[in-house]
Amino acid sequence: MSSVSLTNLKEALNYDEIVNCMRCGFCLAACPTYKLSLHEPRSPRGRIALARAVAEGHLDLNDIVGPLDQCVGCRACEVACPAGVHYGEILEAARATIVEHKEQSALERLVRKVGLKWVLGTPAGIRFAGWALWFWQVTGLSWLARKTGLTQAVAGKAMAELEAAMPRVPSPVKRFMGGGPGHVFPAIGERRARVGFFTGCIQEITFWKENRDAIALLQNAGCEVLIVPGQGCCGAVHTHTGEEAAAHEQAKRNIAAFERHQIDYVVNAAGGCGAALKEYKIWLKGDPEWAERAKKFSASVRDISEILLSLPPIPLGPRPGRVTFQDSCHMRNVQKLVNEPRKLLSSVPGLEFVEIGNADQCCGAGGVYNIMQPETANAMGADKASRVKATGARELVVANPPCQLHMRASLMRAGLDKEGVRVVHLATVLRESMDAAKSQERTGQTTR
Ligand code: SF4
Ligand code: SF4
Repeated sequence: MSSVSLTNLKEALNYDEIVNCMRCGFCLAACPTYKLSLHEPRSPRGRIALARAVAEGHLDLNDIVGPLDQCVGCRACEVACPAGVHYGEILEAARATIVEHKEQSALERLVRKVGLKWVLGTPAGIRFAGWALWFWQVTGLSWLARKTGLTQAVAGKAMAELEAAMPRVPSPVKRFMGGGPGHVFPAIGERRARVGFFTGCIQEITFWKENRDAIALLQNAGCEVLIVPGQGCCGAVHTHTGEEAAAHEQAKRNIAAFERHQIDYVVNAAGGCGAALKEYKIWLKGDPEWAERAKKFSASVRDISEILLSLPPIPLGPRPGRVTFQDSCHMRNVQKLVNEPRKLLSSVPGLEFVEIGNADQCCGAGGVYNIMQPETANAMGADKASRVKATGARELVVANPPCQLHMRASLMRAGLDKEGVRVVHLATVLRESMDAAKSQERTGQTTR
């Protein structure tokens, strides 16, 4: 730390934004980690004050690592802040500064290099991860490692629980048949728009079917859908872990990949990815070559719920049941998409939508937070699970892959899966309803 000058540190920590905090404390009630701990350094105001103390030379950078690591990054504090402090930008700058200056163990360096730079850092690495996971599951290695306790011994309890909650991933053949990079899905009926679909990394590996459900909805809404080749991870995982430069590389790769095609919108079905894509304009605002391109790209990004509501409605058929909805924090607090998924759910015939208590509270997934801070993440997941139970809903509808996985694990811990409560993506609910409408239409035709 001694080699870093205070001026450099001020700039790196985003001091201009830090001093906008007027220390009023309006954000405290919105912060899940503060509510759990009632400890000021675990509040947004506390974390900003700590970052300020470092920037002004009163504290060492190492002193704020713990409080920042414990932040789930839900950004509920931004919505509550009357001064409009951009907490997310402060957090990302502080995490990047810590990663740049902190001593890392050999293991941490290896995990960062393999996981973030090689696997999630390239499209080929993401494909490889999908195949490896399929092989792990289909050969029974996953079952064996779980039964013998090997997964927990090697990867820890949190990873073992998430692994157990992971759905079966599709085979490489199924992925190939279902259309990969470069595939064009034609519009059904009158073509209204040409869409570039952003698949995401974890979403495309673990929730591949949910992406295909979203594409089917888009086709039926009159969109021609291209899975843009050359795209990779959105970079959100990299920002969560302080790898700012790597995140910006991902942003540039994705912008360049989508720019090569004539498209009206960039659409995704993963709330966290969508928020990152919409923030490329902020990430790259200081880069003269990329600032304008990032602005244009971000302006074209739409969540699946957003674009479906802007197009003529798809015919929906009966899909009975009681459901509740789990907001993705980055969809709610960053993209400000609160009503859109609820409106869509309420339009499904026969579906009873019930609001969940404390809907604006994070479930604890937080990108990789549930792996890094399992105790707090699981406490948040347990709270969410009890609130799901209180609604009496048989399904928890989600719109973001980390939430989907984390809530599957949380419902399992609470025993709700055994009571038949399941976690389902918004796109799947809508697709099932759309299929029901089609089947009704077919039956009507054959019986006429
Ligand atoms: S609400 Fe905003 S201004 Fe007030 S303490 Fe929190 S971050 Fe600072
Ligand atoms: S991002 Fe979420 S957890 Fe972090 S300080 Fe803000 S409200 Fe608290």
